[in-house]
Order: sequence, then structure tokens, then C-alpha cells
Amino acid sequence: MILIDGKKAAAELREELKQEVADLKTKYNKVPGLTVILIGDMAPSQIYVRNKEKSAIEVGLKSEVIKYPDTVEEKIVLEKIEELNNDETVSGILVQLPLPKHIDKQKVIETITPSKDVDGFHPMNVGNLSSGYESSVPCTPLGCYLMIKKIEPNLSGKKAVVVGRSNLNGKPMTQLLLKENCTVTITHSRTKDLKAECLEADIIVAAVGIPELVKGDWVKKDAIVIDVGINKTENGLVGDVAFDEVSKVAKALTPVPGGVGPMTIACLLKNTVECFKRSQK
Ligand code: NAD
Repeated sequence: MILIDGKKAAAELREELKQEVADLKTKYNKVPGLTVILIGDMAPSQIYVRNKEKSAIEVGLKSEVIKYPDTVEEKIVLEKIEELNNDETVSGILVQLPLPKHIDKQKVIETITPSKDVDGFHPMNVGNLSSGYESSVPCTPLGCYLMIKKIEPNLSGKKAVVVGRSNLNGKPMTQLLLKENCTVTITHSRTKDLKAECLEADIIVAAVGIPELVKGDWVKKDAIVIDVGINKTENGLVGDVAFDEVSKVAKALTPVPGGVGPMTIACLLKNTVECFKRSQK
């Protein structure tokens, strides 16, 4: 079984991006810039943002974090986004989620200009992705996609089952696999026989949030299994896939932690570089 090493894949991607940023600097005499807006002091968000900033600096991006207290008015945040939309030194804007209740998430997402939407959440990018046009793609499914492609470069005709239909993971993952000519089934909490669906799959991507939902006897021999889930349990962090059981049948599997997680941040950097390149066209 191939244990898909997300840390290694992310380090390789960062190395490629570092070179690309250096080349862009030579060509344009400027580097892509990523600005993250962080509202409030929730510990996980603080950690994510710190990691994003560290990785951005490592590959040579211009990195900025703008912090607001969780009492900040929505208007102030929207005005700041407008200012960043018009700032030529900013290639990508990310507002760290979740937001305090008094701030309308959708309004925030739609205020970020689509060409700087490094999270790929703006309806314009969602629409472009589903139409098969150029767009920013949400970072977690993009990371999953790149890892799947490394294992199996030709996905045409493969059967893929995506477990979970969130806007963040399941839906964009489905679109990426469709673009590769997979036959994709998207499953969710109302799916009648999830085990039977999974047993059909050459590729399973599980993004649910239920510890070890996907069992060993749900997986076809030699399937590729990508585990997006991050669940805190008494036994530490576990994914949505029963790792020990599934590793006995799968061809390749991502561990939790050390699988999808590290690739998510590397893909944010990739999206920032892509936004910069499109803005220079
Ligand atoms: P979500 O709660 O928005 O969506 C969960 C989806 O799972 C829903 O579509 C729901 O229909 C489906 N679902 C729920 N119960 C189900 C069941 N019994 N059978 C089949 N489907 C079921 O979650 P999300 O934001 O997509 O996150 C999913 C998981 O991925 C979470 O554990 C989250 O922490 C993790 N996550 C990891 C990363 C990363 O970088 N590794 C990034 C984002 C999210």
C-alpha cells in the first residue's frame, strides 16, 4: 500500500512555488502578495493563519495579516476588502472562517473580487469551476486532486465516490474529478447505502467529519482513498476513514494527520501565485 505523504507532497509543491516566485520576480520585478484577514481570537484560526503566513514567507510571497477583534463591525471589514481589491500589491485575499455571528459570511465572500479570491468560494469561481473554465479552486479539494493525480495520472473513466457534499470540499472535489473524466457519485447524509456506493469506487474521497466512517469492507481492492476528515477523539486526531482496516485493501491512502492537511496550505500559496499570473496577462 502506498502511504500518501502529504507533508512531502506539500514540501515539494512549496519548493516548485519558491522557484516560480523567484522567476516571476525576475520577470515582473514584483512578487505575488497574500493578505489574510483574521477576526477574533479563536485558537484554531490563529494557528491556521500563523501557518499560512509562515509558508507564504517561505516561498517568497509578500504576506500580510490584518487582525480585527471579534466585535468589529461588518462595514469595516467590507471596506477593508474593497481597499484590498484595489491594491495592486495584493494578489490574493483570504478571510479566515468561521466569522463572528454578526458578520454575514456570504456578503464577505462576495465582496472579495473573484480574481483575488484565493479560497475559490466566490460564486463566480464556483460557477467557472463547474463550467470547466479557469478559476480559483478551493484549497483542500485542490490538494486532494493533486495527490490523486500523482498516484494515477490518467483518471479517465475511473469511478469516483465523494462522501460529503459541502461547498468547501465535496462539491468542488466532484467538479475536479468530473473534469478528469471520472464517473463521479456524490454521496451525503441521506444516501441510502453508502457502503454499496463506496464498494463501486476506484477512488474515494471522504469529507464528512465522522470518525472512521469508511470501513475496510467498504473499499474495493486497490482503490485510492483520500481522507479529508479531521476529528478530535479520545485517541487523538482521526480521519473519516478507518485507517488500519482500509490500509489492508487500498492501493493508496492518506494518513490523518500528515495527509490532506499540509497540502491545503501549499495549495493556498499556489492559488495566490495563479491569481498573480492571471493579473499580469
Ligand atoms: P460539512 O459538515 O460542511 O459537510 C459534511 C458533509 O458530510 C455534508 O455534506 C453531509 O451531508 C455529509 N454527511 C454527514 N453525515 C454523513 C453520513 N453519515 N454519511 C455520508 N455523508 C454524511 O464538513 P466539511 O467542511 O466538508 O468538512 C468535512 C471534514 O473535513 C471535517 O472533519 C473537517 O474538519 C475536515 N476538513 C479538513 C480540511 C483539511 O485541510 N484536511 C479542510 C476542511 C475540512
